[in-house]
Amino acid sequence: MQTHRDIPFFNYPGLFEEDAEQYLSVMKNALSRGAFIMQKDLLDFEQHLADYLGCKHAIGAADGTAALILSLRAAGVGDGDEVIVSSHTFVATAAAVHHAGATPVVCDCLSDSMMDPESARSMITDKTKAIMPTQLNGRTCDMDALCALADEHGLKIVEDSCQALGARYKGTPAGLFGVAGSYSFYPAKTLGCFGDGGAVVTDSDEVAAMIRQMRDHGRGPDGKVTMFGHNGRLDNIQAAVLDVKLARYDAYVARRREIAARYTERLSGIEGLLLPPGPEADPNRFDIYQNYEIQADRRDALREHLSQKGVGTIIQWGGWMVHQFDDLNLRVDAPYAEEMSRRYMMLPMHHLLSDADVDHVCDAVLDFYQRNSI
Ligand SMILES: *Cc1c(COP(=O)(O)O)cnc(C)c1O
Repeated sequence: MQTHRDIPFFNYPGLFEEDAEQYLSVMKNALSRGAFIMQKDLLDFEQHLADYLGCKHAIGAADGTAALILSLRAAGVGDGDEVIVSSHTFVATAAAVHHAGATPVVCDCLSDSMMDPESARSMITDKTKAIMPTQLNGRTCDMDALCALADEHGLKIVEDSCQALGARYKGTPAGLFGVAGSYSFYPAKTLGCFGDGGAVVTDSDEVAAMIRQMRDHGRGPDGKVTMFGHNGRLDNIQAAVLDVKLARYDAYVARRREIAARYTERLSGIEGLLLPPGPEADPNRFDIYQNYEIQADRRDALREHLSQKGVGTIIQWGGWMVHQFDDLNLRVDAPYAEEMSRRYMMLPMHHLLSDADVDHVCDAVLDFYQRNSI
């Protein structure tokens, strides 16, 4: 007989409480200096983020979506262009393309949830300017295939790596494959702040300079405006908090990978359940498990069963793939995504889960399938 245990899908208060004293202290320090916008704490965090990734430039942005729009504009995406995005992504990916003045064109995804390079190929037209792969759930796409496709057709790669800070493909970090990559620091992201936040990374001095200018109303270092910009700045207090969290980030990721290994070990081989690739499944990839997304037969009944056992689950994007929002007019034939939208859901995954929590989730899943066999 299992004991009851409450495992909410995500532990928001825990994000603060795990190191409350230190967060209050860095915030108090910044506040008492009157350091609110574009101050030392932001510059420090930008430098530490660039060092962490081994890239030349990291530029704080207001949120992940602002980062995406800035990176598309810096890549020269604009009026009349088409940009290929995956069906399994947040609406912000497609919205960023739209707000950059271009048209998002959706392609299908594969069974590991990543953009399907062959489907992307079939969407290329003479208006296509860029491919925007989403490095979803903390995993990377097949970047060899996508970069080769982009080269072949003279297209740019602009990554939506909002969910994949620290993920790698053949050693290269997500975010550094194309013109620029974006991260989101939304609280539930692997590196989550206490509000909204984001960043753009790039190795190009030119792209970095343009993004720095655009995120601050188009103003150059001397205050002269040479283009219409945005207010897309990361605020200084969030940067101070993020700097503390970045120093611990490897430990967060290591814990997520341990949890993923435990899910893999306990839940592999159940008929009707497809797990994401485990942490050791592919020597070319280092996944950071932003999410632990499974596909399940009788998904809704499984969610109901888990909920009765106190386990919170979520269906990403509310259950809609991006081409399924009819009012956005992005309809395409994406058969895999279509099927997946009826089967996908996420189990709890964050660094504050204990082994006992994870075992409780696994017990509840196993209990469901045993009870439902025959
Ligand atoms: C979180 C996220 C974003 C951007 O999120 P913001 O809320 O703007 O920080 C963009 N794309 C994907 C795939 C995301 O998960």
